[in-house]
Amino acid sequence: MYDIIVVGGGPAGMTAAIYARRANKKVLVFEGKACGGQILNATEVDNYPGFESISGFDLSQNMYNQALKLGAEFKFEMVKKITADKKVITDNGEYQAKAIILATGAENRRLNIVEEADYIGRGISYCATCDGNFYKGKDVAVVGGGNTALEDALYLSNLCNKVYLIHRRDQFRGEDKYVEQIKLNDNIELILNSQVVDLIGEEHLEKVTVKNNDETTKTIDVSGLFIAVGQQPRNEMFADVVEIDEKGYIKAHDEVYTNVEGIYVAGDTRNKVLKQLTTAVSDGSLAATIAIKEMK
Ligand code: NAP
Repeated sequence: MYDIIVVGGGPAGMTAAIYARRANKKVLVFEGKACGGQILNATEVDNYPGFESISGFDLSQNMYNQALKLGAEFKFEMVKKITADKKVITDNGEYQAKAIILATGAENRRLNIVEEADYIGRGISYCATCDGNFYKGKDVAVVGGGNTALEDALYLSNLCNKVYLIHRRDQFRGEDKYVEQIKLNDNIELILNSQVVDLIGEEHLEKVTVKNNDETTKTIDVSGLFIAVGQQPRNEMFADVVEIDEKGYIKAHDEVYTNVEGIYVAGDTRNKVLKQLTTAVSDGSLAATIAIKEMK
C-alpha cells in the first residue's frame, strides 16, 4: 500500500513526489516514457526562477534525481485505469494507494491531415530538438505560432538550409522576443494566414502543400515538417471516475481537487488559466500538501 500514487512524471508529478517524500510518505510515480513531460523537449527554459537559462532536459533530470534521492519510487508503466477507491491499474499490475494525484500533462496535438501518421519518422516530427539533427543542411518547415513553434524555427535555422514557418494567422501567440529574432533571421521564411493541407512524398516526405486563407495554394519542397500546434490532454482512462470538461481537461475546483475525495489533479491536465512550468510545479506542491493533510 502506497500513501500517494502520482500518475505522470512531468514537473507537476515530480514536485508532488518531492513534497510527499519530504513529509515521509510512501510515494510511487508512474511514468509511461521518460520523466520531464513537455519540458523534456524544450531547448531552453528561461522563465523558471533560479535558472537564467537551462535546457528542458537538464531541468527534468534535476527534478527526477531530486525526487529519487528523497526516496520516491518510479515505475515506467502505462496507467490504464484508476478506481474511486484509489486503485491504479497499469499494463503491468494493480497498485493500491490512500491518495492519487493525477498529473498526466498533455501530449502533442496533431494536424489531423491525411497521411500525417504515415510520415511520422519519415519527415514528420513533433520535436525539433529530438529530430532536428536528421535534417542538417536541408529545407524544413515548422507549423504553429506559439512559443514552441517559434523556438523550433530558431533552433532549426541553426541546423538547416532553410526554415519555412507556417502559421494560420498573421499574429503570433508566442512571445515578441522570439518573433523579433525570427524576423531578423535570413533563413526563416514566414508563410502566414496559411495551413498545411497536403503531404507529398514516396518513402519520405518531399513536399507540403499550404493553402492561404484567400484559398490560393502553393507547394514547397521540404524534407521535414515539424508540427508544433500545441498540446491536448489524454484523460479518457480517468473519465469514468473523475469529471472531465468538454476539452478533455480534468475539472478542478479550488485548484487541485477533483470531484472524488482523495483524488487530486496537478499541472496541464486540469482546466486552468495559465499552463506553465511554474504553475505545474505550484500545482504539484499544493496537491501533495493537501493529500497529506487529508490522508485517512
Ligand atoms: P500554444 O501556445 O497552444 O500554441 C499552439 C499554436 O498552434 C498556436 O499558434 C495555434 O494557432 C496553432 N494551432 C493550433 N491548432 C492548430 C491547427 N489545427 N492547425 C494549425 N495551427 C494550429 O502551444 P505551444 O507553443 O506548444 O506552447 C504551450 C505552452 O508552453 C504555452 O503556454 C507556451 O508559452 C509554453 N512554452 C514556453 C516555452 C518557453 O518559455 N521557453 C517554450 C515552449 C512552450 P492560433 O494562435 O491561431 O490559435
